[in-house]
Amino acid sequence: MISARRYLELIAFARKHYEHTIFEPIEIVHEAILINEDCNEKNVETAFWAIRRDAKRWMALTAADHRYPKQERYCLGCRDYLPIAAFTYRARGEFMARCDKCRDKMSASWRKKNIDRAREIARKSFDKRKEKHKDYYEKNKARIIARVAEWKKKNPDRVKASLAKRYKKNN
Ligand SMILES: [Zn+2]
Repeated sequence: MISARRYLELIAFARKHYEHTIFEPIEIVHEAILINEDCNEKNVETAFWAIRRDAKRWMALTAADHRYPKQERYCLGCRDYLPIAAFTYRARGEFMARCDKCRDKMSASWRKKNIDRAREIARKSFDKRKEKHKDYYEKNKARIIARVAEWKKKNPDRVKASLAKRYKKNN
């Protein structure tokens, strides 16, 4: 459950982001809340985030309707016109110069040629994420431990199953 204050804030937020569209702010908010099954005061930020993300996507599609009336865009890689859905949205109604397939091919071939650098980048980002998770855990240790304990209490069967699985693996 979220408070009435947050709920009204969400509606105002949706109204602002979906101005001049056919959408009803209340419906947008309800959908955003439903995505997160137990939307509460602590994770309500996710709903704001979802509303903004979907509004951005909708604006991109609307912009594409004007900019690409045939819903096609020229790909610099394929050297051909492709459906707009084959491109990743970049910003302000603009899409990438190459289609997703061409971009995948380009990054795969770059990886092949620069395997050491690619591994280094992957390792760095892995370490960074690990560090971030560690920080988060340290800051929220008590809350996380309590939540895990509560989950275990509520799901004794799953705890048993996972213990059995681990036992089987180690013996
Ligand atoms: Zn292409």
